Amino acid sequence: QTVRAQAKDEKQTSNALVEHRGLMLILSSPSGAGKTTLTRLLLQDAALDLKLSISVTTRARRTSEMEGVHYYFVSKPEFEKMRAEKSLLEWAQVHGNFYGTPKGPVEARLSQGHDMLFDIDWQGTQQVQKSAPKDVVTIFILPPSMKELQARLERRAEDPPDIIAGRLENARHEIERWTMYDYVIVNQDIQQALNEVKSILIAERLRRARQQDSIERFVGTLLSEK
Ligand code: 5GP
Repeated sequence: QTVRAQAKDEKQTSNALVEHRGLMLILSSPSGAGKTTLTRLLLQDAALDLKLSISVTTRARRTSEMEGVHYYFVSKPEFEKMRAEKSLLEWAQVHGNFYGTPKGPVEARLSQGHDMLFDIDWQGTQQVQKSAPKDVVTIFILPPSMKELQARLERRAEDPPDIIAGRLENARHEIERWTMYDYVIVNQDIQQALNEVKSILIAERLRRARQQDSIERFVGTLLSEK
């Protein structure tokens, strides 16, 4: 059992103070680079203990999407109310629609020492990085080619052709933002990309600074052994 897991167990049994906040793992990519599949696979892996932050959006629901699973679908006035009440951690306008991250669930999970996954664009990433630089790990997912990106958007066939054309144009601008991310992955093969994201998460969890308090205690016990 890892020190981190031990610390979690102790937390559950003794209700002790949480020793480290969870981290925010942000995945960004242009539409069609495979981020949705990657996110699904990451969430399916129970051992990773990740939860997705469910955004609110004013975009119309696609037939494959479920309320409260993929997004909370809200009206523009509802969105504006949340924004005015400062209940969004970040927000952005993407492809003409509004998207935002509700603050409450994120804060609750992080303060319990669990990590959270975000599928948000570069504008939101910039805002979260600014507000909590130490808690954030950012990954940009690139498609293997623009041709493949277009093929994926068309295969998905969930948006009308003019929207797909708009998303492709937008993808070029989004790709230019790759330099602001901590890590960059080219999604040629989904299994490999998945392993790469997992490796980043595992390494980031092991950073000394993130484990400072629990390791300090552990080393104390270690050194007191006869
Ligand atoms: P889609 O409409 O394809 O679901 O998402 C379009 C884009 O909006 C994606 O790049 C996605 O990452 C981004 N997005 C989704 N939710 C949020 C959010 O809460 N905040 C921000 N800034 N971007 C989001």
